[in-house]
Amino acid sequence: MIKPDGVKRGLTAEILRRIELKGYRVVGLKLYQIPRETAESHYGEHSEKPFFGELVDFITSGPVVAIALEGENAIAGWRGMMGATNPANAAPGTIRGDFATNMGENVTHGSDSPESAQRELALFFSEGELL
Ligand code: ATP
Ligand code: MG
Repeated sequence: MIKPDGVKRGLTAEILRRIELKGYRVVGLKLYQIPRETAESHYGEHSEKPFFGELVDFITSGPVVAIALEGENAIAGWRGMMGATNPANAAPGTIRGDFATNMGENVTHGSDSPESAQRELALFFSEGELL
């Protein structure tokens, strides 16, 4: 997912460019204003964390670009392309390393397991939208 900060900053094309150059197949793609309830469910694993409210406020602060990717080892590979959660620790060449300075506004999201990918894809896409 390209988070609202990435969309607002005009990073969508650059991020899709990196995904396509890497060789992943884009099987779903949409500009999407996440409803608050969906955001709370999406980040459900963090519901007890002190930053949960801010996280939900931020992810619903504007449209995101939801992307369904397919490819060998795509979950770990995409997380590698994003870089560390905290941009201060993200290597140059990664998306967060190249484009972010702030833990909250870290440009992209990636599912962290096959189970979370399945759960999150179902939150953002209907079956007919994945081609
Ligand atoms: P994401 O789930 O957004 O892809 P991630 O998997 O790298 O990021 P998570 O641990 O799932 O990291 O945290 C989700 C998001 O919550 C992070 O992207 C970050 O914006 C925010 N976050 C995580 N830890 C903190 C923290 N300690 N303080 C503030 N915000 C945090
Ligand atoms: Mg996460």
